[in-house]
Amino acid sequence: MHGSRWVDVARAANLLGADGQPRATIFAEMSALAQATGAVNLGQGFPDVDGPESVARVAADAIAAGVDQYPPGSGIPELRQAIVAHQARRYGIGLDPDTEVLVTAGATEALAATVLALAGPGDEVLTLEPFYDAYAAVVALAGATHTTAPLRATPDGFRLDEQALVAAFTPRTRLVVVNTPHNPTGAVLTRAELELVARLAREHDALVVTDEVYEHLTLAGPDGTRPAHVPVATLPGMAERTLTISSAGKTFSFTGWKIGWISGPAALVAAVRTVKQFLTYVNGAPFQPAVAFALSDEGVAAWVDELAASLARRRDLLSDGLRTAGFTVAAAHGTYFVLADAAPLGYDDGATLCRDLPRLCGVVGVPVSAFTRPGSSADEALRSWVRFTFVKRDEVLAEAVDRLARLGS
Ligand SMILES: *Cc1c(COP(=O)(O)O)cnc(C)c1O
Repeated sequence: MHGSRWVDVARAANLLGADGQPRATIFAEMSALAQATGAVNLGQGFPDVDGPESVARVAADAIAAGVDQYPPGSGIPELRQAIVAHQARRYGIGLDPDTEVLVTAGATEALAATVLALAGPGDEVLTLEPFYDAYAAVVALAGATHTTAPLRATPDGFRLDEQALVAAFTPRTRLVVVNTPHNPTGAVLTRAELELVARLAREHDALVVTDEVYEHLTLAGPDGTRPAHVPVATLPGMAERTLTISSAGKTFSFTGWKIGWISGPAALVAAVRTVKQFLTYVNGAPFQPAVAFALSDEGVAAWVDELAASLARRRDLLSDGLRTAGFTVAAAHGTYFVLADAAPLGYDDGATLCRDLPRLCGVVGVPVSAFTRPGSSADEALRSWVRFTFVKRDEVLAEAVDRLARLGS
């Protein structure tokens, strides 16, 4: 095969086989295994319940009304206004809908366009580790260097390793990608943790890019209170150097619609728009009015709160089941995911456990090594860990928990 950038991307994503050919992702391998064995698939994180019908109806009506052609390059005005109103109402962030907001093909395109626009050869892009798998690939696509700061397992779930974060910054750090609530660990970074990131970014004159796709999915703990989601853009001195990314996919359970957005200072948004124009130009014309409605409607907001409450219950159901089966389970404060350590079950490699699990008990997860860089300290510390999703119906989770119990016996 010709070309070389794809090789960098495949290598960054751990997808380059020994034969020099790209191989399937572990997500695809595990989903195929679930299919072949009839296992309950708690690997890939997408909801098995529809998003709000009132929102779907707006999209259906838009299609019926002939909303068929290219929308404006920055997104339709009503969606940009709804995003601005949402950021103001929820976080007190002020934005200009014409210059400081851009609608994208999901958070994934917002992130890709941002990294391609703002980082290149010689620049370092610092992310937390483990990290959402697209980050490593897009940093490689930009020809930049990926550096990481580990999250560590603590009795209260995963937390930033502050010393390691300080050490990870260098004069070449150009972008810092912060994902909170965090996939795959379920961590919700505290204000203090984010303030440290902010201070280091200011000291090194780095830009911060935040992936806040789970902003509405912080989950109540045993005392019933939900951790606060803190956007970095709200911290003192940070609005001018932060690009904030979110998406309709996770909040409203419409992961296939691929409507995302990015907001921040006009000059940075203009840079991102310049690249985004030549990736997809625009997308999702009939979905944009539906997402504008979803962001503005009180009934939909109540639906999202109910989703967060039900996810907290489902997290507890799955976490208890994993503990009973013999895993050590990290407290998850947000997202769709919980991490479990298979070491107490005698597995020092999560990938081996994941390949055995369908046969052992008929459940599928994904190894945390899908979200780490081979040989890093996080990779070594999390070798025996596995990610499971709890964004499945109660009966599916109950079945998974029943099956997992066979492991313990
Ligand atoms: C799902 C997910 C995304 C992708 O969002 P889309 O809007 O579907 O592109 C980005 N970041 C994280 C952390 C995710 O879990």
